[in-house]
Amino acid sequence: MSYILEERKKQIARVGGAVRDIDCGKVSVAGSVSQRACVFCGSRVVLYPVADALHIIHGPIGCASYTWDIRGSLSSGPELHRLSFSTDLREKDVVFGGIEKLRKSLDELIDKHSPKAAFVYSTCIVGVIGDDVESLCAQMEKEKGIPVIAVEAPGFQGSKKDGYKIACEALFKLVGTIEKPVPKYTINILGDFNLAGELWILLEYYKKMGIHVNASITGDGRVDDIRNAHNASLNVVQCSGSMIHLAKMMKEKYNVPFLRVSYFGIEDMSDALYDVAKFFKSDELMDAARKLVKEELGRLLPALSFYKQALTGKRAAIYVGGAFKAISLVKALRLIGMKTVVIGSQTGDKEDYKLIQQLCDDDTIIVDDSNPVELSAFVKETKADLFIGGVKERPIAYKIGLGFCDHNHERKEALAGYDGMLNFAKEVYATCMSPVWKFVK
Ligand code: SF4
Repeated sequence: MSYILEERKKQIARVGGAVRDIDCGKVSVAGSVSQRACVFCGSRVVLYPVADALHIIHGPIGCASYTWDIRGSLSSGPELHRLSFSTDLREKDVVFGGIEKLRKSLDELIDKHSPKAAFVYSTCIVGVIGDDVESLCAQMEKEKGIPVIAVEAPGFQGSKKDGYKIACEALFKLVGTIEKPVPKYTINILGDFNLAGELWILLEYYKKMGIHVNASITGDGRVDDIRNAHNASLNVVQCSGSMIHLAKMMKEKYNVPFLRVSYFGIEDMSDALYDVAKFFKSDELMDAARKLVKEELGRLLPALSFYKQALTGKRAAIYVGGAFKAISLVKALRLIGMKTVVIGSQTGDKEDYKLIQQLCDDDTIIVDDSNPVELSAFVKETKADLFIGGVKERPIAYKIGLGFCDHNHERKEALAGYDGMLNFAKEVYATCMSPVWKFVK
């Protein structure tokens, strides 16, 4: 296949025969025009939903505008996170250094907005000119009496996944700096970003079970809750690609164990609740979880049957940020009668891809860190009816003439939980069955 670069061949596989390791977790091949974002963007998307923190981007204005309001993360209170501050570095700053500009910006913004903490992101050019952001942050922290955290994330220093790690390290600096007592059954939710209010659906489930959620990291996040996160009994980690590093560090330093879950689709959502109940070894919690699942399924399954009937036999291509989410999507699609024919992610690891190979039907194409040329060819070859992806995959789907479902951080429809499963079915139905596709040549 001439459209696949030689250096990328090991990052692509077809299901069938022996399961093999897919090459992944490496820097994108030059010239491949990867769908991935940069290191800075990786750190920004993870930290951005902390709503009462100041987020300032030390770099040229483009880095800030490119990530401005990048997630549809909703807040139930402050919305300081939605303002995108930048030092707007120009040629003169690049030649003489930008640290004074950053000092003045921090001084003014902290006084004006009284944030609970400040995250200071270093971009590519700061990595090149070498401004000492770390020292300035330490000085400002003393001066202003709030945590001021340097997020050293020049875009060129690795992949988006490295940005996740840098964000986890920034959050870890906050953890353990406040002591507040918490109830007996207390968890932290890691890796939900409250897109379209999804966190609030989950909070309702946990509340019904009698579980207290201490910190949500980072959807609808608050600095003080994160500072007290070490007092929870368990970290429940979704989107493990972005948050597993924080969970591991908290396990090591504070002995807080973690569970990996997914809140997408009936099966994984129910398992998430059961696994948390199992962790606390409480019959009371388990009974509450069973009752909740029974009630939700009683409502949901009859509502889904219409969509299943209409969509059975349709074929889907999935290309998302994290592979763990892709696994849930395969199961959710099966529930409405659909088959996955292409599946890929920007940041999956070997274990994720092994699981995908075991889960998917023969001939499914699996791809790591893909590009528009490959993705277009794969969906055409497999005759997909639907593409599930994010903002960069949407034009690929529409240009080819197939349905599209946004399952990335810009989405405006809540897709998590039982209500989310119904929203997902409705959205897939609306796009796949749209009469507009009849007019595509
Ligand atoms: S690659 Fe560099 S210049 Fe581009 S957005 Fe990322 S940090 Fe900014």
